[in-house]
Amino acid sequence: MTLFTPPKPLRRPLDGRARQMFIGGEWVEAASGRRFDSLNPATGAVLASVPAGDAADIDRAVAAARAAFEGPWSRFKPYERQQLLLRIADLFEAHWDELALSDTLDMGMPIARTRANRNRVVGMLRFYAGQATALHGATIDNSLPGDVVSFTRKEPLGVVGAIIPWNAPTAASIWKIGPALATGCTVVLKPSEEAPLTPLLIAELMAEAGVPPGVVNVVTGTGAEAGAPLAAHPGVDKLVFTGSTATGQAIVRASAGNLKKVSLELGGKSPVIVCADADMDRAVPLAAMAVFANSGQICIAGSRLFVARAIHDEFVARLAAFAEGLRLGDGLDETTDLGPLVSRRQLDRVEGFLARGPAEGARLVTGGARLTTGAFAAGHFVQPTVFADVADDMTIAREEIFGPVISALPFDTLDEAVARANATPYGLAAGVFTRDLTTTHRLIRSLQAGSVWVNTYHAIDPAVPFGGYRMSGYGREGGVEHLHEYLNTKAAFIRLD
Ligand code: NAD
Repeated sequence: MTLFTPPKPLRRPLDGRARQMFIGGEWVEAASGRRFDSLNPATGAVLASVPAGDAADIDRAVAAARAAFEGPWSRFKPYERQQLLLRIADLFEAHWDELALSDTLDMGMPIARTRANRNRVVGMLRFYAGQATALHGATIDNSLPGDVVSFTRKEPLGVVGAIIPWNAPTAASIWKIGPALATGCTVVLKPSEEAPLTPLLIAELMAEAGVPPGVVNVVTGTGAEAGAPLAAHPGVDKLVFTGSTATGQAIVRASAGNLKKVSLELGGKSPVIVCADADMDRAVPLAAMAVFANSGQICIAGSRLFVARAIHDEFVARLAAFAEGLRLGDGLDETTDLGPLVSRRQLDRVEGFLARGPAEGARLVTGGARLTTGAFAAGHFVQPTVFADVADDMTIAREEIFGPVISALPFDTLDEAVARANATPYGLAAGVFTRDLTTTHRLIRSLQAGSVWVNTYHAIDPAVPFGGYRMSGYGREGGVEHLHEYLNTKAAFIRLD
């Protein structure tokens, strides 16, 4: 075991102290005075306690966000917002070890992975900084009688409510806050109750960078007590949500009161198609980590693995050998490949799927159990698991597991593979392994998914739109269109004659 030690002393020790939440530039308790504990999923230890915010705190935060939006923040020019985002990016770079450590402790992601995310998140901030001065309306020639000039203006939508899950707190926070700062919106962020600590650290860094009071607010609390009132709040102009499809549906219903705009990044059951001509040496680790990365707790997990029948048995055997070589452990151990699941609730859910697989006729190839002895006893650890002989209608092939579980399904023709891959209500991502260019293009064209990766997986870039088809949500994060989702378009006509 090689425990990660930050190279320099942490300015903010992660020492179990009580945290406050951030509203209107101040650190505050919940109006109710209630608190809850955030636990380390590797050990079960209490990391810190945070305020249990509710509707009263959401009201306070929305009011602060509105006051900032209409007040000092409205006078920030695009260039000033750009400089602010660049300062935030620099601070994130300087304090990345703290952010990485906080994510690892709070939700279990291995430290090697949280540390490696630095360039991606800092790159997102710098991308948004670049966009801040690049957004513009257009002059549009019209066919109206007389001399009439027409043009459009791009204006910030206003107060944005942001609700995020626990599986990647830093990146999820920046996907929401970055475009708001670039466009001139203000934010009320509601982190997951399973991992609230990093967003509070992010609020601290934002304040240090000079983000004015009220522009970024963080209200900790549960989905029912703090998330639902934010989604329903009449003072919120837009709601950006990442989480499960069921919660996304509840948010859309709650948003109807004031018809706030909504963007949804939801669940998935993403297919990976391994063709007979695939480069196996390359495809095996990529297909395995398409699911096992972050212990399967990734919306884009490629959990349905369609393998050409000609290579199916060999591929599955190699996949199982790869899975057996992965090291499970505390995320703080630098040699850990797979950390714990985030919570007892998630562990129980995944164990339910592990039991359902064989009960419905799937063959367990490797894994299949929770680890309960020694250092694993207090945490929520599940072995990386491969099921074969899976049928499309089995529960493990239909439902999002959010755990390290692969279902291998043989196929005979590409048309059949595509039809089966698309036979899901989701449409977040898809993977393809082939060396054939025609197959590549045909599959990209026919797979119903927001991202298609060929001979790679997990590729996400701030400049490239990411999001779902069908019940994986709507709206995009990343790319220029992401920024436009935080803007209103105003049309103006001026009669000159
Ligand atoms: P979840 O839907 O249970 O919770 C997500 C957030 O919503 C949390 O902050 C929670 O407190 C809040 N919430 C819960 N009920 C609410 C309600 N009624 N009103 C308002 N807010 C409410 O999801 P989770 O278990 O935290 O995360 C896992 C899910 O997130 C998976 O389905 C996964 O696929 C999805 N996810 C999607 C993406 C993506 O980009 N598409 C990324 C990561 C995770």
